[in-house]
Amino acid sequence: MPVDLSRVKIETLAVHAGWESDPHTGAVISPLTLSTTFERGADQLPGKHIYIRSGNPNRLALEETLALLEGGAAALAFSSGQAATMALLQALGPGDHVIAPEDAYYGTPALLRDLFARWGLTYTLVDMRDLAHVQSALRPNTRLVWIETPSNPMLRVVDIAAIAGIAHEAHALVACDNTWATPILQRPFELGADIVMHSTTKYLSGHSDVQGGALIFREPGELADRVGVIQSTGGAVPAPFDCYLVHRGIRTLPWRMRAHCENARRVAEHLAGHAGVAAVHYPGLSSHTGHAVAARQMRDFGGMLSFEVRGGRAEALALCARTQLFAHATSLGGPESLIEHRASVEGPTTKTPEGLLRVSVGLEHADDLIADFDAALGG
Ligand SMILES: *Cc1c(COP(=O)(O)O)cnc(C)c1O
Repeated sequence: MPVDLSRVKIETLAVHAGWESDPHTGAVISPLTLSTTFERGADQLPGKHIYIRSGNPNRLALEETLALLEGGAAALAFSSGQAATMALLQALGPGDHVIAPEDAYYGTPALLRDLFARWGLTYTLVDMRDLAHVQSALRPNTRLVWIETPSNPMLRVVDIAAIAGIAHEAHALVACDNTWATPILQRPFELGADIVMHSTTKYLSGHSDVQGGALIFREPGELADRVGVIQSTGGAVPAPFDCYLVHRGIRTLPWRMRAHCENARRVAEHLAGHAGVAAVHYPGLSSHTGHAVAARQMRDFGGMLSFEVRGGRAEALALCARTQLFAHATSLGGPESLIEHRASVEGPTTKTPEGLLRVSVGLEHADDLIADFDAALGG
């Protein structure tokens, strides 16, 4: 019998949403359905599915699960986080204006600058920690305000509810990139967002082995329908196996996030007391400028942090080469800890301090992670 998920806690939801025993075999885990095409009934009418791109069982199960997890009305899965962001921007029109954070994930402004400027979409990048900057960036044609918090790589925190209030007063939509916080730690719809975006490549799938993205809509309606057409007609959709992997990863998301948060807190506190470290950026530290807002709008402070070593670029690069448990690689959200020199990745125009290292704290034991840093930092 299907489980009634209407009143359960998020841990239970994550385990059960979208999964049902296969009526043909009794298999407890729903099967992976690779078929590209689906039979019509004798009456020639299509059944639940017609063709793989417009919909298939594994994608539908994932989309229903994503909508339930975020508390939205509908979800659409994409082949990457970037494809999800792109689909939302494609639903806007030429001449529309977008406001986004100046420290958004680099791919978001890259889409606005390199692809959508040619389509007549205009945009303004602002520091959203200061609400006056959001207010003064608004124009009569502002259709979308894009929020990302905590941000990359300085872990800046912005007030979702306050920004949503300002945007809605100007009749603009509010989208929140919730990739870093996940629906376990941050509930953008409850804070006023209209759309939630995820790179499911990160925590939602959680094992660094699949690429995907998603948009979740607070309400059904014209916008969700339009983006649905972009998804199925444009075709930037995930394969059934990719959907299966993301859906499987979600089952352990709430418990993985607890461990990521616990480990990150311990690593952050340890680094903050280390003589070789000049600064630690983690919203869970009371010294962090965004701590109060994060404490109000997040259930916990996440698994991402960054820190600045004494000795600048040379020492930062040397440190990434010396850590053993922290793999020197980009991305985040997997079981293994990762460390990355962001200024090198971002190139010559970067504003990121040269001594800064970004860390995705994984699911190893915190004692081992701390010992790895102590050995790498020396002394
Ligand atoms: C990775 C990431 C993206 C882009 O997602 P892809 O799956 O790599 O396309 C967008 N936003 C944030 C915050 C990310 O970390």
